[in-house]
Amino acid sequence: MLDSNEIEKLRPQKNIVNPDIPFHFLQEVEPDQDGILQSINTIFLSSKECAFKCLMCDLWKNTLEGSTPQVAILKQIDHALDLLPEASVIKLYNSGNFFDQKSIPPSDYPGIIKRIRSYKKVIVENHAKLCGQACVDFNDQLNGKLEVAIGLETIHPDVLPKLNKQLSLEDFKLAAKFLNSHGIDMRAFILLNPPYLTDEKENIEWTIKTVQFAFDCGVGCCSIIPTRPGNGVMEKLQQQGFYVPPSLNALEEVFEKALNLRQGRVFVDTWNIDFLSKCSHCFKARKHRLEQMNLMQRIYPQITCSSHPIQS
Ligand code: SF4
Ligand SMILES: [Zn+2]
Repeated sequence: MLDSNEIEKLRPQKNIVNPDIPFHFLQEVEPDQDGILQSINTIFLSSKECAFKCLMCDLWKNTLEGSTPQVAILKQIDHALDLLPEASVIKLYNSGNFFDQKSIPPSDYPGIIKRIRSYKKVIVENHAKLCGQACVDFNDQLNGKLEVAIGLETIHPDVLPKLNKQLSLEDFKLAAKFLNSHGIDMRAFILLNPPYLTDEKENIEWTIKTVQFAFDCGVGCCSIIPTRPGNGVMEKLQQQGFYVPPSLNALEEVFEKALNLRQGRVFVDTWNIDFLSKCSHCFKARKHRLEQMNLMQRIYPQITCSSHPIQS
């Protein structure tokens, strides 16, 4: 099992990010809990690196050295909102934990709240262990409603401890209970093919079990992320046979099975999934099918390909 030091030692270089400019922002569309498509302004804030050092994480690549300076987040939000069209939902993703005070200074909360008052939903990322009174106070001051996106990753009892996430299922359950009791929505990030789980059938099975667990905890939507290499340690684990990238077929299968649970919304992360592709003939159409399923929350017919009889 690798600890934070060993994980950090294997990292490639960080990107240089500007504390006054978000490292990325975009508008996307997602269905809400009633299936109505909502436009979402997503801002990827440049902020302090997350204090946790999860094995599979590559979000540190676009983070600042040291604490986020005061007012920087406000400048970043202004920069993005000046250039983005109107939307009904906003995601403020900071490659870490929104309620980590060194990442998003609490002195900036009033300014943030002022800037996002027109949004009916505000989605932030946060570790389960950092879900406390600050979430409630922040939600109380919003015009809209807060949703906290939490990395659950996997409920596999041998794999979760090895992810160095410092998270137990009890921590997740407690966070969910706390947020639900305060009327705060939740979404869960769930991995397909985390490190240390290499059999395809098992991977599909545990991803679905994890989605089921999240829904049982009261999570409103699950976002399934195909675990990717690229952070240094993942390449090492791949060479050692402890990590296998998922297949596109597996991603399609978990998406269908998770939608069939009919317990809440399910999304799959289609950002940068070219590494899953084994066939250039059908990849584009299959990716498009996943995107349509994200939007419509129903299963579309599988794509057939003349280059291979069975999907791979
Ligand atoms: S808690 Fe999230 S941001 Fe922090 S290291 Fe883990 S996966 Fe990355
Ligand atoms: Zn094909």
